[in-house]
Amino acid sequence: MEQTFLMVKPDGVERGLIGEIIGRIERKGFVVREMKMMQASEELAKAHYAEHAEKPFFGELVTFLTSGPVVALRVEGTDAVSVSRLMIGKTKPTEALPGTIRGDFANTMSENVIHGSDSVESAERELGLWFQGQPVNA
Ligand code: GDP
Ligand code: MG
Repeated sequence: MEQTFLMVKPDGVERGLIGEIIGRIERKGFVVREMKMMQASEELAKAHYAEHAEKPFFGELVTFLTSGPVVALRVEGTDAVSVSRLMIGKTKPTEALPGTIRGDFANTMSENVIHGSDSVESAERELGLWFQGQPVNA
């Protein structure tokens, strides 16, 4: 069993897509092991997106992620990292296929409804950051 870190971003929460997104994850057969709605601090947002610190859009990214509450999720299942990335869809709106979460609900690069870890290593790092390494249902 593999775990991944998924997050409904502020635009997804604002647009009332929490249930839709979690519903898709659950119907796929994945299990939500831990979940919390929270306001990310600037420090947490910067740490989360540390790999993009040198990118020109980093400031915008951090501002967006801290612009409202997010829903952080610890999700478990077979190949949870790669399969959830397939369900999320590509980052670019022109490449996010219909049927994926971004393909169905997002239309811009900067506000794209959901985050998902891109590797098992990223998932471990991000779960540690957002859940402070304390799995509730371990
Ligand atoms: P992801 O793993 O598919 O979320 O994509 P990345 O890790 O490459 O980028 C992280 C997030 O930064 C994306 O989900 C977008 O919200 C945002 N992002 C990526 N590239 C750009 C860009 O060129 N411009 C802006 N404004 N945002 C971007
Ligand atoms: Mg990424």
